[in-house]
Amino acid sequence: MPPDTYSAAGVGGAGPRIDLHAHSTASDGTCTPAELVRAAADAGLDVVAITDHDTTDGWEPALRALPPGLTLVRGAELSCRWSDGGRPISLHLLAYLFDPADPALCAELARVRASRELRGERIVELLRADGIAVEWAEILASAAGGTVGRPHIAAALIRAGLVTSTTEAFEARWLGERYRLPKEDIDVFRAVELVRAAGGVPVFAHPKATRRGPVVPDALIVELAEVGLVGVEADHEDHSPAEREHVRSLADRLGLVATGSSDFHGTHKTVRLGAHITSPEAYERIVAAARGVTPVVGG
Ligand code: AMP
Ligand code: FE
Ligand code: FE
Ligand code: ZN
Repeated sequence: MPPDTYSAAGVGGAGPRIDLHAHSTASDGTCTPAELVRAAADAGLDVVAITDHDTTDGWEPALRALPPGLTLVRGAELSCRWSDGGRPISLHLLAYLFDPADPALCAELARVRASRELRGERIVELLRADGIAVEWAEILASAAGGTVGRPHIAAALIRAGLVTSTTEAFEARWLGERYRLPKEDIDVFRAVELVRAAGGVPVFAHPKATRRGPVVPDALIVELAEVGLVGVEADHEDHSPAEREHVRSLADRLGLVATGSSDFHGTHKTVRLGAHITSPEAYERIVAAARGVTPVVGG
């Protein structure tokens, strides 16, 4: 998008509001894609990205409902893993503006979604073996065809009156550790390669969110930058101020784009749309690097 597109939004000196990470019911968010874009407009955003876990299913309904003047960036958040020989570390790779029909990427996303279903069912078996009455069929139905994840199991634990919030359901005694099972995530180097080959722009999501679990060393980000990583998410709810600063300086050193985004999940999390935003300069670099699909302005 050319800079002059922002001038109206910049009235009052506020500048454009660009949020490049948000989830819908196509994965573990609680707003439908249509509700998400309307909520983005209501929150005063100029640009919003739909980045559901391992799926592009929300793209079409979000496009159809796009309010006038709001720009939609189509993306996804890929479930990845990295290991240097020890226990694999899970990480998330945001991918923007890739070709949704790219066969290799589609196949990999389908494989991860299938693995999520098997893993979800096995988590439910573990819970049931401990006498916790949750039903896999009901949990799967609650995802309504979207990518199923632990937040859907968390919601079942809340409905059963066993916990009072998603946050509590992610404590170590529940889905955070005791009933946590791995899924078959994509090797992160392969993910970067697949996203680039599909014309997309890979940005490492919340790379230093230590409160979520183990994080990767900077050396991995250096290596990924050499093979096509374009950016890193610096401003994120799960980063402390020191972690945000660390990611920014790493981005500067490596020539990576530094982004900021809410990672909105509706009522599954407390963070609001636009709570963290990306600068127009960073956004333009992402758009300029994309070869798959373009941002779409609601008309
Ligand atoms: P999964 O993709 O099934 O491994 O579940 C991970 C998802 O759960 C993330 O994308 C978040 O949406 C959510 N999540 C992870 N940790 C927490 C937490 N501590 N509190 C609430 N939601 C969380
Ligand atoms: Fe999520
Ligand atoms: Fe994430
Ligand atoms: Zn996310």
